[in-house]
Amino acid sequence: MLRLIDLTKEYDADGDPGRRVLAADRLNLEIKAGEVFGLVGPNGAGKSTTLKMVCGLLLPTSGRVLINNIDVEHRREEAQKYLGYLSDFFSLYDELTVFQCVGLESKRDSPIAGLSRGMKQRLGIARAVIHDPPLLVLDEPAAGLDPKARHDLKQLLRGFQGRGRTIVITSHVLSDLEEICTSIGILEKGRLIRVGKIEEILQAAAGPQGATPAVARVVRVRLSAPGFPLESWLAARTGVSQVASSPLGTLFAFAGSDADLSEFVKALVTAGAPLAAVEQPGLSLEEAYSRISKGEVM
Ligand code: ADP
Ligand code: MG
Repeated sequence: MLRLIDLTKEYDADGDPGRRVLAADRLNLEIKAGEVFGLVGPNGAGKSTTLKMVCGLLLPTSGRVLINNIDVEHRREEAQKYLGYLSDFFSLYDELTVFQCVGLESKRDSPIAGLSRGMKQRLGIARAVIHDPPLLVLDEPAAGLDPKARHDLKQLLRGFQGRGRTIVITSHVLSDLEEICTSIGILEKGRLIRVGKIEEILQAAAGPQGATPAVARVVRVRLSAPGFPLESWLAARTGVSQVASSPLGTLFAFAGSDADLSEFVKALVTAGAPLAAVEQPGLSLEEAYSRISKGEVM
């Protein structure tokens, strides 16, 4: 549905003609029909720049955007038929009246100025989807919304997804994306530093610092009674490192396969530990993101 090929945008830095800002740095990405793709990154990462190029509102310095194999730069109007766009600060004229749109029928004749931020956002989205485009591009739609409006927004987006639409959404609020996106890309200083399914990104980031994610993982063991010298038993095992206790149990890095983990559990029980639980605590997207962007996990 959407492909970015070496997409690059360089701006002249404001008031400093010699200096250039690389807002998008050779982005390559393929988003399939039906996906909800979240572009995550801090302010200034290049999210809005990227979306504007996707929508044909900004010319790339180099590289291409294809929507349904249509080149946005060369066949802009044709490509734009496939998309609806909500800009980061979408503008609505305050003197307009609300027309019938997503969930706002009761406000039909209200002046827009009297609407809450959440309702304005809905209206902006309604405007973006009014011709029911197969591709929806939403720049920070959750920004400034209260929890109720965020919830409504998620429902709205799930509805579009349910109807087979493709959605590209940006946010720096990761928890907003975690629940609705099928995959995400992490953008930093114009570079896509990671792309994948949310589970893959969480899994890759779940490995302890410095370890190869595929080999080491964080494991938590909980005992049902005190008395067993768990920490010293762990310290003596090969493949175990970074033992630390937490209120929920003892955490450590475990290097090995699932079969190794089975052996490990068997040995622990045989040694007499009153085992209550062996868990692999998942990292939230938020934690995973902060680890990835600190370069702890690559
Ligand atoms: P994001 O949406 O992730 O916050 P932007 O795409 O708005 O990021 O901006 C990316 C970078 O490009 C920032 O460093 C920003 O200052 C710079 N930038 C954005 N628009 C312009 C512009 N029109 N002229 C010069 N620099 C710009
Ligand atoms: Mg932005």
